[in-house]
Amino acid sequence: MNYRSTRSKNTPAVSAAVAIKNGLAPDGGLYMPEEIPLLAEADIRALAGMNYPERAAKILSLYLSDYTEEELLNDCRIAYADDRFPGGAVPLTQINSRISSLELWHGPTCAFKDMALQIMPRLLSRALEKTGEKRTALILVATSGDTGKAALEGYRDVPHVKILVFFPTDGVSRIQKLQMTTQEGNNVGVCGIFGNFDDAQNGVKKIFSDPAMAAELDRLGYFLSSANSINWGRLAPQIAYYVSAYCDMLNAGRISLGDKLDVVVPTGNFGNIFAAYLAKRMGVPLGKLVCASNRNNVLTEFLQTGKYDRLRDFHMTTSPSMDILISSNLERLLSVVCGTEKTAAYMDSLSKTGTYTVAEEDLAKIQHDFVGYCCNEEETAFYLHEAFRDHRYLMDTHTAVAYGSARKYLADTKSDTALFIVSTASPYKFAPAVLTDITGKETATADPLAALSSLTGTKVPAPLAELEAKAVRFPGSVAPTDMPARVLSFAKE
Ligand SMILES: *Cc1c(COP(=O)(O)O)cnc(C)c1O
Repeated sequence: MNYRSTRSKNTPAVSAAVAIKNGLAPDGGLYMPEEIPLLAEADIRALAGMNYPERAAKILSLYLSDYTEEELLNDCRIAYADDRFPGGAVPLTQINSRISSLELWHGPTCAFKDMALQIMPRLLSRALEKTGEKRTALILVATSGDTGKAALEGYRDVPHVKILVFFPTDGVSRIQKLQMTTQEGNNVGVCGIFGNFDDAQNGVKKIFSDPAMAAELDRLGYFLSSANSINWGRLAPQIAYYVSAYCDMLNAGRISLGDKLDVVVPTGNFGNIFAAYLAKRMGVPLGKLVCASNRNNVLTEFLQTGKYDRLRDFHMTTSPSMDILISSNLERLLSVVCGTEKTAAYMDSLSKTGTYTVAEEDLAKIQHDFVGYCCNEEETAFYLHEAFRDHRYLMDTHTAVAYGSARKYLADTKSDTALFIVSTASPYKFAPAVLTDITGKETATADPLAALSSLTGTKVPAPLAELEAKAVRFPGSVAPTDMPARVLSFAKE
């Protein structure tokens, strides 16, 4: 299976290993598989008899044909093992008679990014071997919190790779800072920045585009790489849990093979929900893909009108991982639906004018699979509170956006198709906001984790509970201008 750019048919096709190593296609587009592999009913039946690592390896093998099934099974067994995902990688919990929740946050950092970032570093490490790369990949990340920690956990002690994460030293939560500065592993570095997230991000971008830096790193045996969410190596592993959820609903007797299953996904960069679309295109009988947005509802408007318009106010919300105005992975959907030529034109328009509008027939095709809903801050708080009050189901703020969208979708359509929402973070990861929503008032507490635990009778996840006792390994911060020097000293360590 080869990969091509979303923006041109003429860019040379590359193997999966090259797509994963390069991240972005040379013309600025994203890599897409040349075709979408198909699953027959017998395949789905066979997958239903497997455990999660086996299912994930099977799905990955259809896309990463230059990796052997043995390599993928080996990697998936390590990435999704019980010691990393206590209680299972992808539990499906029933909230009420209509709505189930696919909990993807039982991994080491308590957020769903672990599902991709536990496996992607292994895929990259193998890609370096497969492409004859002799240098070590130096992963640079600028983070506002969650991605940095998930990337550190994923890349720690992976061969041929080192990772250095920059974060705004006063711009992340206390828990997030502790999660990063106590990071274990022999190939990791973490560094605070005296500045905000943009300063960190701009600093990293400058380092990536500096030829002198590239030459110096090359001399030291490194090349720069990113853990970005548009890398195919991050997207492919996400397809597996949609296939797996269908199998689990089947095994539980809640659906019969061939029955439809609707999915509601809390969406930011459109990566997670696009993986659901690929599962559907592969032949998994998924029904509507409900795209749930917070107050930054650029996707809701796009799915309703066909107009993508980033020229609007940016809102900081209690679901910060969805505070996004440019959903990069939407480009992948456009390339499937509209073709590469129109996609290139839309992306050009987006960068020049901030908007584009898809043709009516293309919007109709998109609306066949997708529908957009959103929840503002009051609604998010309302539904989070309601799920706990009525069903004793505790969810984080991102999941609450999905749950609220599911409730609205069900009220609008009166659908009786089985449905699940995707739960993307542990409620403890966003404990202060969750506490406020559940109690209905701001709660001043020095220990929001303990307060949430005693209020709800649930347990603090081990990776968060252990944080306070861990030694801080990376206490330092630097000025943004000192980031290049920090990168070089890290490379020489
Ligand atoms: C990243 C993230 C999302 C958004 O996922 P996309 O793939 O960017 O759409 C939603 N919820 C949480 C908790 C996240 O960390």
